Amino acid sequence: MPLSARGALTSADYDVDAAPAAQFYPAIRTYWPGLPDGALQPAYAGLRPKISGPDEPSADFVVSDPDKHGCAGLINLFGIESPGLTASLALGEICARLVRD
Ligand SMILES: Cc1cc2nc3c(=O)[nH]c(=O)nc-3n(C[C@H](O)[C@H](O)[C@H](O)COP(=O)(O)OP(=O)(O)OC[C@H]3O[C@@H](n4cnc5c(N)ncnc54)[C@H](O)[C@@H]3O)c2cc1C
Repeated sequence: MPLSARGALTSADYDVDAAPAAQFYPAIRTYWPGLPDGALQPAYAGLRPKISGPDEPSADFVVSDPDKHGCAGLINLFGIESPGLTASLALGEICARLVRD
């Protein structure tokens, strides 16, 4: 897939090359000798929305509440990249507090 030096997609190509799986079999079989041939499947390809440009440092999560955008009852969460799943409970608490207050 055509990527810039910083990993940004430079054209829309969603093909996934399954060939690298051949390198994973011997590595995985060092701790799982019974891994059957054909067990590894390629994952999906897609676009990740970003809130920082390719030449900028990664941005922190953004919680945009009515104080920032003026629309009552709306909370936007932007840029929830990794570790967004790990942070989801804390983000949920922030949102709950914004709804309560
Ligand atoms: C490969 C990968 C590995 C990751 N590993 C980790 C990890 O190890 N630890 C960690 O903490 N985080 C990890 N993350 C990040 C974590 O997955 C995200 O931070 C988290 O999923 C963001 O949650 P979200 O609810 O904001 O968005 P999402 O989980 O992307 O949910 C958005 C939902 O909205 C739906 N949607 C989009 N557009 C529309 C529309 N127009 N109408 C209706 N529905 C729509 C989508 O189908 C999707 O279900 C990883 C992410 C990726 C891609």
